[in-house]
Amino acid sequence: MRRSARRKRTVSAYFDGDTMVVLIPARMSSAEEEHWVAEMERKLLRGKNRRVSPARQSDEALMQRCRELSAQYLDGDAQPTSVRWVPPMRTRWASCTPAEGTIRVSDRLRDVPAWVLDYILVHELAHLRVAAHNKEFWALCARYPKTERAIGYLEGLSAAAGLGLTELD
Ligand SMILES: [Zn+2]
Repeated sequence: MRRSARRKRTVSAYFDGDTMVVLIPARMSSAEEEHWVAEMERKLLRGKNRRVSPARQSDEALMQRCRELSAQYLDGDAQPTSVRWVPPMRTRWASCTPAEGTIRVSDRLRDVPAWVLDYILVHELAHLRVAAHNKEFWALCARYPKTERAIGYLEGLSAAAGLGLTELD
């Protein structure tokens, strides 16, 4: 928490790594201060959770999210042996090697909204059951309700970045 004599009325907050910094006017009472720190924390955390997935933080978190999504959409029947964040790939957002049960996700996706990353994971997990992009495969993907929207989001992202990344593998 930082008090500023120049700050008259406004309160603002941001994250500096894991630390939340709250800027408040110097003249605020401690009761007001307490209120605003709690308020800004609530707001910031809500914004954070809405934007990105906790799975972005580590390979372990990514694996945990895969377990949840497999249970929710794929009958618990798509369990990878490993799921890893990898440096950006030239032509892919993510890839799966069904024979080995491994999934790799491009670092480019660390900052996409949680619901987009979830789609990617459902897609790759579905490949553990059906390797090809056939009707059966897309029926599995369609169990995740935001599949269409996520595909549109990724096409837009790819076009905006001039990446030419429209296909998932
Ligand atoms: Zn695919």
